[in-house]
Amino acid sequence: NSFMDIDLGDVLFKNIKYAKYTKPTPVQKSALPIIMKGRDLMACAQTGSGKTAAFLFPIISGILLDGAPEPLAAYRPGVPRPVHPRALVLAPTRELALQIYDEASKFSYGSPVTSVVVYGGAEISHQIAELDRGCDILVATTGRLVDLLSRGRVSLAHVKYLVLDEADRMLDMGFEPQIRQIVVDNDMPGNRDRQTLMFSATFPKPIQNLASDFLNNYIFLKV
Ligand code: AMP
Repeated sequence: NSFMDIDLGDVLFKNIKYAKYTKPTPVQKSALPIIMKGRDLMACAQTGSGKTAAFLFPIISGILLDGAPEPLAAYRPGVPRPVHPRALVLAPTRELALQIYDEASKFSYGSPVTSVVVYGGAEISHQIAELDRGCDILVATTGRLVDLLSRGRVSLAHVKYLVLDEADRMLDMGFEPQIRQIVVDNDMPGNRDRQTLMFSATFPKPIQNLASDFLNNYIFLKV
């Protein structure tokens, strides 16, 4: 009934305390131990349930345990250098992506973990400049990520954590082809070599299909 019962590490404990999160919400209580064990998860949870922290805390904690990322490849004029995020969070809208990014920054504060958010409708050159400063956790809307992948600015080869947040909204908005392109047609590790977490308010057939395609031996959670 306390965050202290979960082995999240010093950085997170300090930042959780600073954020005045005194006890885990129901979705956090159920999901944190599952995710910390390395299991894939399909969680039905609403906005406002605290689902963002439920997936970000174990990701930040896991990245810190893994240690420093490899440095960026040497710069060669005219050759784009891809960043290799260790966590990829896909979100349906710019607003949600920004909220997730804010929470990632807040809870990794004081640690070497870096987060970047990319979304459409904004200057891509600024986002590329941000990426070039380092990116452990990439929060993205799907269209902009596909663009950055095709420009060779992002490689998914080192993704250990993949999160699909508000998956039902992403499908409602017609993003399924982009999602499948990102997860399947790229250098992203297969579902046995990454941890995949899906969050959705509802669980209709298309989400069930996505879950069985992307998740490996997953736990289903309804809060
Ligand atoms: P979310 O469902 O992730 O969008 O979170 C909804 C709101 O609840 C956000 O403003 C969070 O900062 C806040 N929140 C999440 N977890 C906790 C917690 N354990 N204690 C207090 N507030 C929380």
